[in-house]
Amino acid sequence: MSARSDAAEPIARRVEEGWRLPGVANLHSHAFQRAMAGLAERQTHPEDSFWTWRETMYRMAARFDPDSLHAVASQLYVEMLEAGYTTVCEFHYLHHAPDGRPYDDPAAMSQALIAAARDTGIRLTLLPVLYMTGGFDGRPLNARQARFGHDIDGYMRLFEGLRAEEGETLRVGCALHSLRAVPPEAMRAVLAALPDDARIHIHIAEQVGEVQDCLALRDLRPVEWLLQNATVDARWTLVHATHLNDWEVAGIAKSGATVAICPSTEANLGDGLFRLRDYLDAGGAWGIGSDSHISVSPVEELRWLEYGQRVLTRRRNIAVHGDSPSVGATLLRGAWSSVAGSTGFDGAGGDAVVLDADAPQLAGATADDVADRWIFSGNRSCIREVHVAGRKVVADGVHAGRGPILARYRAAMATILGAIEG
Ligand SMILES: [Zn+2]
Repeated sequence: MSARSDAAEPIARRVEEGWRLPGVANLHSHAFQRAMAGLAERQTHPEDSFWTWRETMYRMAARFDPDSLHAVASQLYVEMLEAGYTTVCEFHYLHHAPDGRPYDDPAAMSQALIAAARDTGIRLTLLPVLYMTGGFDGRPLNARQARFGHDIDGYMRLFEGLRAEEGETLRVGCALHSLRAVPPEAMRAVLAALPDDARIHIHIAEQVGEVQDCLALRDLRPVEWLLQNATVDARWTLVHATHLNDWEVAGIAKSGATVAICPSTEANLGDGLFRLRDYLDAGGAWGIGSDSHISVSPVEELRWLEYGQRVLTRRRNIAVHGDSPSVGATLLRGAWSSVAGSTGFDGAGGDAVVLDADAPQLAGATADDVADRWIFSGNRSCIREVHVAGRKVVADGVHAGRGPILARYRAAMATILGAIEG
């Protein structure tokens, strides 16, 4: 269903408990990074950037095992559900033990994520990541990247084993870490081996340095190269796609692929601003992701997606189209319309968020303005219930498993942070 075709439908339905809306899908998550949110906000170098942040991230990544990943992911998924996310796409590359050796069960880390999703009730699209090289020049992974790596056979074994576990609330797709981490011939081999309906996600054009390296070694910008070297279609999700020229904006929109925009992380890392207005004009599909989890809130992602454009253009109310003057409604419809293409859950029946009609931000709300009120003046405190696949997982704003999951998260964080300090 396109965002335009249903624009005349009310955005929310008044029910006894409040205002009922579809749930929001979080199209991009690295669960373990929840443990470092707020811990990379001290200057280490006058030119701190994504690349210095990545050093902190690698130190954090080295401390995880299946138990601590399960504890951190469970806490994260509780927070997502309480914030209104009902589906998460987990872009998962923490595969092996810290020294790079596979666990006895090579899927142990993936299983920790599946268990966290099952225990908390969120829908999961698990995207095991293929990560082979440390740069466009094909250099091998360094010691800190060793736990991310696979050869093609090992990757396909992992993918197929996980795929056999798909069920009502679990889908398994493929993630290519990035063009710099997957050589062209490996990309072609894996794409040829995937089932026709598999979703494919890739990080692309997040950093100017990545664009420059791709131009230097492949004579094309990353998105140009991808569109010319793979059959990019509605099964694809391009994560970030921050640095685009006009041809790339039009090319992604025409392909039917979804762009997963991660405004809070892209702002936190100083990546740049997505070309939202141009991309909407081209009719492109998009959704949101919380990526590094510096913020876990669909409200913040959508709000900052719009605010970035306002700050840039010194105008207001940018993300609208002819059918609806409401920015909140346009943003929510945009995020909803990409769910099936990006996550592989068609319809996601029984998923809903119920906003609390008694919340002060919603006093006197109507079906016409409830989306704008929630996205621009509300947040998690407006959420009363969250339902996934017909099950109520959040009641009165609180996830049913919040207490014990938080206790295990605290214990895991003490171990993780103690190991880093020690
Ligand atoms: Zn990412």
